[in-house]
Amino acid sequence: MMALNMWQKNIELGVNMEQETILGYDKDRNPIYPNKKGYITTHAFIICDNCAKAIKTTGGPRFGSICIECYKEETNENKH
Ligand SMILES: [Zn+2]
Repeated sequence: MMALNMWQKNIELGVNMEQETILGYDKDRNPIYPNKKGYITTHAFIICDNCAKAIKTTGGPRFGSICIECYKEETNENKH
């Protein structure tokens, strides 16, 4: 029983860490997260619309997405 509790704790921690990781943003500027285990995704890249970097290797194409670096630049530009 102890071992099972430990295992469940690790799963919870893993999920929480995944939720905090944002890979980039889609065309509506919704965050793109890494795949959660067990999710069915398409095997198409999501490519940054600005610098052509691969944001993610699955779940694409999602045209108009941007990577985290370009998103930061974009939000900085908006402030100026
Ligand atoms: Zn980019």
